Amino acid sequence: MEDKRSIKVSISDNAWQAKIASRFLKSDNAAIVFGRNIYLWGTSKQAFLGNQRWLLHELQHVLQYQRDGFIGFIYKYLRNHIEHGYYNNPYEVEARAAEQNEELLKQFDLP
Ligand SMILES: [Zn+2]
Repeated sequence: MEDKRSIKVSISDNAWQAKIASRFLKSDNAAIVFGRNIYLWGTSKQAFLGNQRWLLHELQHVLQYQRDGFIGFIYKYLRNHIEHGYYNNPYEVEARAAEQNEELLKQFDLP
């Protein structure tokens, strides 16, 4: 069913943006979001789409960009990162809470 309000998201695997994030997080796999684009490293697009908790986490970051704007998100995210670190960054706290929120999927047009 088509919903004209749905947010169209793109997903790229083997992405250098996510490779940098994986080194930063000291993790074998990583996802990083810029606007409506989700970049992956160490996982396939299919595996990522099949991992609902992870998918919901990254979709919440997409919503944060929608709320704060591209520059606003990057600026506030980095400020919060410096102040609180990765785990306690309010943007990450909110994204982890969204991992249980299946309702979020209704707002998106996924590939
Ligand atoms: Zn996150």
